[in-house]
Amino acid sequence: MDLGIKGKWALVGGASKGLGLGCAQALAEAGVNVVMVARGAEALSAAAQAIRQRDGVQVIDIATDITTEQGRNQALAAHSELDIVVTNAGGPPPGDFRDWNREQWLAAIDANMLTPIELIKATVDGMAARGFGRVVNITSGAVKAPIDVLGLSNGARSGLTGFVAGLARQKRLAAHNVTINNLLPGWFDTDRVKKVLAGAAAKSGTSVQQQFDARLGGIPAGRIGTPDEFGQTCAFLCSQHAGYITGQNILMDGGSYPGTF
Ligand code: NAP
Repeated sequence: MDLGIKGKWALVGGASKGLGLGCAQALAEAGVNVVMVARGAEALSAAAQAIRQRDGVQVIDIATDITTEQGRNQALAAHSELDIVVTNAGGPPPGDFRDWNREQWLAAIDANMLTPIELIKATVDGMAARGFGRVVNITSGAVKAPIDVLGLSNGARSGLTGFVAGLARQKRLAAHNVTINNLLPGWFDTDRVKKVLAGAAAKSGTSVQQQFDARLGGIPAGRIGTPDEFGQTCAFLCSQHAGYITGQNILMDGGSYPGTF
């Protein structure tokens, strides 16, 4: 399917690995030029070079921390007319809310709520003026089915979700072909998940394989998701065909969430 977005410009956060990389690759495959952001320069530059060679699109890689004001400014300065923004950075650490102080809460809110809001603020009015815009926020299945130990994520991402629900329905955006949606990953095969499994195995004295198998039991699809399928869904949401989908929370979890809606 031709997604109809060849030549557009996208900004993708957390783009050197995992879900962000999957999104950058799928957008580039559709002919989109990409500004890729991550903190580690080496992995980012290698990922950017691979995309340039494979898809022949323009790729600008910016090694910076997107959760800081300076980092966001650097990323936004890379291209003056961004048509697509995929907000993404690392998730907050797990733990018990009794141990979290104000600084830890503010760090989570900064990274997983205010950073996407700042990126949206900087780009959506320009998108509306040009008559095309797509924002996809990578949030988490934990927004729909909270995970106890991920309280920082549950809280900060739910704040973003509530904000987006209101903003996406503004006529000054929706009537000008600007959509804002959240893509909610369940369990995907990324470095982050490998670390979570290794941590859980070490803590419980079990093996990584045992941890993997225990989680797999809760996924009706019987497998872990791939960054590629996540990226392809993101690219579709960014396509010309998805202009009537806005303000939605799209869960990709292999059927794990048990509710009807
Ligand atoms: P990942 O494999 O660890 O990749 C994270 C990417 O983001 C890397 O490119 C990393 O590069 C970059 N990054 C992290 N912090 C950043 C920052 N402050 N500024 C710029 N780039 C940053 O993680 P993932 O599994 O793809 O997860 C992506 C997001 O989805 C996270 O918020 C995670 O909590 C959420 N999520 C993932 C899953 C899953 O199953 N994978 C499930 C639910 C939610 P650098 O470290 O070099 O910056």
